[in-house]
Amino acid sequence: MAPIKDQDPSKIRQTAQSFNKEKLDMSILTTQIGLEHIALVNGHANITCQCCKHSETASTKVISPTDWLVAASYLGWRHVRTEYTDIDVVCPDCVKAFHSHLIPQIKEAV
Ligand SMILES: [Zn+2]
Repeated sequence: MAPIKDQDPSKIRQTAQSFNKEKLDMSILTTQIGLEHIALVNGHANITCQCCKHSETASTKVISPTDWLVAASYLGWRHVRTEYTDIDVVCPDCVKAFHSHLIPQIKEAV
């Protein structure tokens, strides 16, 4: 590959532009969180966001990890995948932040 000083500046600019475009076209795929990401804290089902570390713990031991997973999914907790990241557990606020900041094409997988 030729040294940078030998490159045609207009070509470099084109490359930078196409890179930015790719970023804007980034798509986000949200899927169900896996049961393995529901923890038990003193017997209480718990889920923790891997972005902001926000965590929610069930108020009673009667709620099983499966129930907790269903409830979390209902509230908008998701596994988020993009071309650049793969985060197993994302809270509704962070999911929203992903969607608003990254201008994605949202594909919701059920
Ligand atoms: Zn979060």
